[in-house]
Amino acid sequence: MSKEIYLDGNATTCVLPAAVDAAVQAMRDCFGNPSSTHATGLKAKAMMDIVRQCARRLLGVGAGRIMFNSGATEGIQTAVLSALCALRERRERGETTGGLLVYGATEHKAVPEALAHWNRLLGLGLELKKLPVDGDGRHDLAALRALAPQAAFVCTMAANNETGVVSDLPGIAAALDGSQALWMVDCVQGLGKLSLDLGHTRIDYAPFSGHKLYAPKGIGMLYVREGAPYTPLVMGGGQEAGLRSGTENMAGIAALGAVLAALEEGGTFRTPAELHGFREKLAASLRAALPGIVFNAPFEKALPTTLNFSVPGLSSKELLDVFDAANVRVSAGSACSASKAAPSYVLDAMGLPAWRSSSAVRMSFGPLASEEMINEACARIERCGKALRDAGLLDTPVSGASAPEGVLQLSLAGNHTWLLLDAPSHQCIAIDLQAELAERVDSLLRSHGYQLLARLSTRDGASWTADTASLAFGAQSLRRVALDADQQAYLLCSGDRVAYAFTGMAALRDLAGAVPADALLCTGREELNACCTSLRAEAQGGVAGADLSLDSVALARLLEAQPQAVLVDVRESYEQAACIPGGRAAQSVPLSRLAAFVPGWLGAAEQPPLVFFCRSGNRSAKAAQCMRRLGYRNAFSLGGGIALAAPGLALAA
Ligand code: PLP
Repeated sequence: MSKEIYLDGNATTCVLPAAVDAAVQAMRDCFGNPSSTHATGLKAKAMMDIVRQCARRLLGVGAGRIMFNSGATEGIQTAVLSALCALRERRERGETTGGLLVYGATEHKAVPEALAHWNRLLGLGLELKKLPVDGDGRHDLAALRALAPQAAFVCTMAANNETGVVSDLPGIAAALDGSQALWMVDCVQGLGKLSLDLGHTRIDYAPFSGHKLYAPKGIGMLYVREGAPYTPLVMGGGQEAGLRSGTENMAGIAALGAVLAALEEGGTFRTPAELHGFREKLAASLRAALPGIVFNAPFEKALPTTLNFSVPGLSSKELLDVFDAANVRVSAGSACSASKAAPSYVLDAMGLPAWRSSSAVRMSFGPLASEEMINEACARIERCGKALRDAGLLDTPVSGASAPEGVLQLSLAGNHTWLLLDAPSHQCIAIDLQAELAERVDSLLRSHGYQLLARLSTRDGASWTADTASLAFGAQSLRRVALDADQQAYLLCSGDRVAYAFTGMAALRDLAGAVPADALLCTGREELNACCTSLRAEAQGGVAGADLSLDSVALARLLEAQPQAVLVDVRESYEQAACIPGGRAAQSVPLSRLAAFVPGWLGAAEQPPLVFFCRSGNRSAKAAQCMRRLGYRNAFSLGGGIALAAPGLALAA
């Protein structure tokens, strides 16, 4: 198993070994309650005071306060509650406050959500106002200047989590000059990466989260400027000088303390120049591997530890999958569901074209990154690029790689497009080709040297231009069957035998008589069928799926008891190619090509156990269900996929 390269530091980081040691020490040797007055408690309190002093020095808090809490989301709530309670009090005293709650358009969701929540709960009825950003992701300072006189509370961030864009905090402060607005700066992504001298700014509140910089999850800090209004979010035993009740997370504080001490002492983390060098290396490898790549934020305005990019023709899911196969962890720059990526509101706010916003990928690392790790990441990026090129996904001619053949399924947003690929003649027939996939299919066919013979629609009989009922397709033929006025089926036949029926949206009951019971049905939508089925399978009803999913232990047992079992990797070809070689032998059957392999499995004299696996267990479950439904009793799926598989199984690199 190749070593994991973790490039998702903006989501969270690993824990610094010294922080692990400090947490263990706090739990084992220094477990006291810092509120206790006996020696055990005093020791714990002393440890906590040391960490707080270190934080105060590092952040330059001056006379301001630093309190420990559970993380930035809590810090944001506390800041918002404090500001809004102060506004309410000012109002009650008859003072003017301004009516706007201004927040940057690219803020973390915690900010607008907290503003809306507390504004509603406190019944303030203030207006939430999104502050636009420019094409580089920086706040529109002219807009802020215009809003400043009516602003009651302004929320901006130090650096953006998706793009790494660093805010112009002095510019924002200048735009707020003369405004009585309170100001929160979300400093989560800035800790350890930007020098913050909070006590010398007009920032009122600054939340931090430990797990973004090598401390564990569940520990954070909130800076509150001296004199800034404050309302506790949590009341109780009066811990943290009454500002935040609840017995402190001492293991977390100790661990955070180790990170802060490392920052203060120097030597543990890479210098800014080294981090810039790492970004250059990664960017050069990405450019070489992924032709047409565009970076979504200007490097000179962003933290060197974040690269956000899009690649024409590739979805973020495809990029994530290929990187994951190479054991490189990155994240979608946008919220991404299995079938369709939602556009990123951050990139949308920057005015980037929709394709960039919905296909963005974020690669981020922390200042603990090493030269060796970055070099290995670059090698794997290049491997991923080659895997995508060889799969014909980057619109470059493919040399040497085997071209897909047979029946190929492409799915987008729950709709299925089917390609029939005849390898000897290099001809292709497309059925129900979705407009959004047209370019993808063009480039796939171009890369593999295929020609599009016909483009047929199950909803439009006129797409059938042949004047005979049957179209020759290599050694096979394709027949059209009109099911009703606006529903066609296409039958792929070997001699007289109907092997496949492409039936679009037709209901099963409409197919009886038109399609033989054992022909493989390839439907037009996910809810009709995820892969393929047959009328006979559907008539026989559902699959008892209880024993379909195997965990690592059950799989190891099965492989031992039945050595003839076949492991089937249903990840796409580019994912399989991106894996570092090694691991147990497996048959390669990308889920998109499952239908091409089904007849062979069903028709074989022996039916050995087939154990499908993929990255997370999603696709393999579909494959196993499909086979079971078609009557192959010995089909299984590795639950949780390679991600959760025991390393001893050596499933893939
Ligand atoms: N603010 C920013 C900029 C972040 O990146 C995050 C975490 O993703 C948060 C706030 C919330 O931090 P937490 O989930 O640790 O509370």
